[in-house]
Amino acid sequence: MAKAQIGTSKYQAKKLKAAGLQKLKYYCQLCQKQCRDANGFKNHLASPSHMGRISNIQTSGQAKTLVDTYSSQFQSEFINLLRINHGTKKINANRFYQEYIQDKEHIHMNSTRWNSLTSFVKHLGKNGIVRVENPDEQEFNLEIRLIDQTQQQVKESREKEMKDDEELNIKLLNDQIKRGRHQEEGARVTPPPPVLPTGPIKLSLKSKKKSTAPKITSIFNQ
Ligand SMILES: [Zn+2]
Repeated sequence: MAKAQIGTSKYQAKKLKAAGLQKLKYYCQLCQKQCRDANGFKNHLASPSHMGRISNIQTSGQAKTLVDTYSSQFQSEFINLLRINHGTKKINANRFYQEYIQDKEHIHMNSTRWNSLTSFVKHLGKNGIVRVENPDEQEFNLEIRLIDQTQQQVKESREKEMKDDEELNIKLLNDQIKRGRHQEEGARVTPPPPVLPTGPIKLSLKSKKKSTAPKITSIFNQ
């Protein structure tokens, strides 16, 4: 995309957009108040109305709950819109964030537990919600792709089935070995006591080979 020339309407639009983005930082989710700039925001945070709300929340012990609520709302709205707008197609995280904040009612990131889009995106990646790519090794320029949860579930259940089969095979194998050992012990009782002291060792080795070893291979071959 070509860089917008200074003075053109495109340049103005870009500048306005950047200013709008900047303003998001100065929104108080709690009071639902938009401040004009850093100074206004600072004043708001120190204002009696805001301080009153904060101390109410803190005395009622809801501060953590509130951050949790905002965080989970933020995440579910973000993911819903990602699904609607892009499905499982790849998109630049910053570009998509622009789409997300178009909704004036959106939950603002500064009321969540994430302090940057990057940390939020990393959280999504770590929890298997999106696949995160870092094409030019720049932390702030991540690409995301929604992971299809239904496909993921199918994959997981298939893996579980395979694991169950494997466990069943091992159990069967162990049963066979146990049974083999049992037969072996039974066989050891019947022959008359050998005269030579080395006799029993030879005998047990021989019977072990016959009863156990072939069974191991046969189960895996079936
Ligand atoms: Zn406030």
